Amino acid sequence: MLDVLRHVHLHPETTRAELARDLGLSRGSATEILARLRALDLVEETAAEPTGARGRPTRTVRRHDRGPVVAAVDVSYESWRLAVSHLGGGLEPLRRERYGGQPAEDVLGRISRALREVRTAFGARLRAVGVSMSGTVSGGRLVESATIGWRDVEVAERLRIAPIPVVIGNDATMAGVAEARRGAATGADVALHVAVEVGVGGVVLEHGRATTGSTGAGGEFGHLPFGDPDRPCPCGAHGCWDLEVDGRALARILGAPPPAAPRSAADAVLRRAGEGDPAALAAVEQVARNLGRGIGGLVNALDPRIVTLSGVAAALLDQAGDSVRAAYLSGLMRFRRHDPPPLIRAAFPRDGSLRGAAELAFDTVLSEAGLDSWRADARPAPETV
Ligand SMILES: [Zn+2]
Repeated sequence: MLDVLRHVHLHPETTRAELARDLGLSRGSATEILARLRALDLVEETAAEPTGARGRPTRTVRRHDRGPVVAAVDVSYESWRLAVSHLGGGLEPLRRERYGGQPAEDVLGRISRALREVRTAFGARLRAVGVSMSGTVSGGRLVESATIGWRDVEVAERLRIAPIPVVIGNDATMAGVAEARRGAATGADVALHVAVEVGVGGVVLEHGRATTGSTGAGGEFGHLPFGDPDRPCPCGAHGCWDLEVDGRALARILGAPPPAAPRSAADAVLRRAGEGDPAALAAVEQVARNLGRGIGGLVNALDPRIVTLSGVAAALLDQAGDSVRAAYLSGLMRFRRHDPPPLIRAAFPRDGSLRGAAELAFDTVLSEAGLDSWRADARPAPETV
């Protein structure tokens, strides 16, 4: 049942025949499993459009209108967003609020109230909450966010609505999950996602699963020492790559003071470079090389099939792609250069982290425990157990 549900989640408009074929099920087994999932309000079946092919007509399998939903929250620099997602993916945006500069307690209080409203609206159909945070996440805690300015915040605890599980992760990790499962890296056995907003974040994904270390704080690629060893980083280390590839780096190269909003500063310099400003162009080329060289090092270490880029990294690929690629290739070990993993723009530049948060929340729903509790909550009638 779980395999079938997961298949419907990843292929929202599948047919009974495709599903049986892809999962290696007999027609009889597929029919029986789908009947059980229908009885649990998890899937619905309708007559499929005739394909003209010979054989018995098949049926389209899709999510049930009364099936499980998850809430996804993305807390980024200056604003937070809330959406719900159904089996099959996709997002229904519910709310977006700007909060720039306010303390964590106030902002999380408002998000918590919004989640309770979702719980009221969807009742027991709400099964999990996924939270994406711009910053370093360990366990359920935001360790530090240079962009938001918060430190040591127990996010999962603050947003928990018992007994609904809350999963929390770094925004670049979440965006990587979305790319690997439904975006530019779909189907890759091992994918690397690199996001540059303020500093560098990212994640390695194996078959769509993020490898985030023992506490969830892995993927802090920006704090690899690919930079100037004399330059202190706000993280406490020296020589971090973070300081060489974002708006802070561009400002420094141009002789400007450290920007208060490094992402907007990067966009402004990229715009000037696009208009032909020679100083901006030179700064963009320099930062593009810093990015490419670092990705080469990551590829040497991690051996991904594909590299997806988002944020400033994607903009650099667009505007200074030759410099990014030249530095990338020169940083690769010789044996990798004849067939280097491609550098590709992310498919979800705007809402990847929100989509990834929904995916990770759904992972808890599409588990043995998740299915058991759905059976117990949504359909207590014993004959369906
Ligand atoms: Zn650092």
